[in-house]
This record gives sequence, C-alpha cells and structure tokens, in this order.
Amino acid sequence: MQKVTWDIQYISSPPAIKYCKKCSKKTEYLCSGLFRINAQRKYLDIWLIYKCSDCDSTWNMTIYSRISPKSIAPEILDEFHNNNEELAKKYAMDTELMRKNGVEVGLPKYKILGTNVNFNTPTELHIKSSYPSRLKVSSLLREKMNLSQSDFEQMITIGSIRSTNGLDLKKCRLQADVILIIENVQLKVKPLLHNHCKN
Ligand SMILES: [Zn+2]
Repeated sequence: MQKVTWDIQYISSPPAIKYCKKCSKKTEYLCSGLFRINAQRKYLDIWLIYKCSDCDSTWNMTIYSRISPKSIAPEILDEFHNNNEELAKKYAMDTELMRKNGVEVGLPKYKILGTNVNFNTPTELHIKSSYPSRLKVSSLLREKMNLSQSDFEQMITIGSIRSTNGLDLKKCRLQADVILIIENVQLKVKPLLHNHCKN
C-alpha cells in the first residue's frame, strides 16, 4: 500500500463573520495581527483586533478579560506588546475562542501540499493540519482528487474510500489529522448493456 501525506497549509486565519454597523450587514472581519492591551494596576485586558473587510471598522476579540497582570509571564506579555506573529496566529486560528466571542467562524484560505493519489494503487492517505479547522474533509478530498460530488459519494458507498476511525466523510470537518484508505476505485460508469432487438 502506498502512503501519501497531504499537509494543509493555512494562508489566512478564519474570518469572523458578524454584523457590521457601518456596512449595515453581516461582513467578514479579518484578523489584523495586532493586539490591544489595557493594563491597569489591578486588571489586564487583552484583545486581538479584527477589521471589517469592507469598511475597516474594528472589532476586538477578547483573549483575556480583567485578569491579574501577575497571571501572565512577563515574556509572554512582551510578546503581546510586540504583536508577536506566532502568538497572534495561535489565537486567530482558535475557532473555539472565536465562537466564545459570539461570532460565526468563516473558512480560512489554505493550500493542500502533497502529491496526488494514484487510483491504481491502494493508498493510505494522511491529511495533516496544525490546527482544527472548519474545512470539510470532503471538500479537501474532492478538490485535490478532482472528483465530482456523485463520484465521491459513490466511492464512499462502495467503500473505496473510508476513514480508519469511522469519520462520516460526507460531513466531518478537519478537527485533527485524518487517515483514509483509498482502494478499488472504479469511477467510470459501466456502459449500459443494450438489447439488440431484431424486428
Ligand atoms: Zn463594515
């Protein structure tokens, strides 16, 4: 069995989808990569700043609210002050945090790195992602293998594509690394048998 690995590379973090007062509609707010910090003697607040993609209005996603300044290590606090890129990405990719902040989570932009699957050989396919995301596993598979919806569903039905730990491949999203077995792929529709009637 050949082994193929796809790495999902995130080009953008997921947009926060929320109502923009200035645009008077729901828009996508994109992460600016900048933190806002409000430090008083007793309390510390930290937000990650998002901007409406249409009008640049800002929205602050709460990371810490009224915590004791002593509860954060000084070097981490420095990273917040310096808008450390890795730290901003860590929070921007945290879909659970976004949901707690009351916004809808959009889809991140991504690339699928890795070779394609050769349907003539049984294959163990690993899909790796550094973050859980809202991307549908079915979309990734169909996009990379260039499959129509019906071809993909047929492969699931006849068991020529299946997850090793029982994921529902029609619905599941990329929560963790996924391992799939792909074998016995027969996509070509068999020609109909014609009855040649001789009258
Ligand atoms: Zn707006």
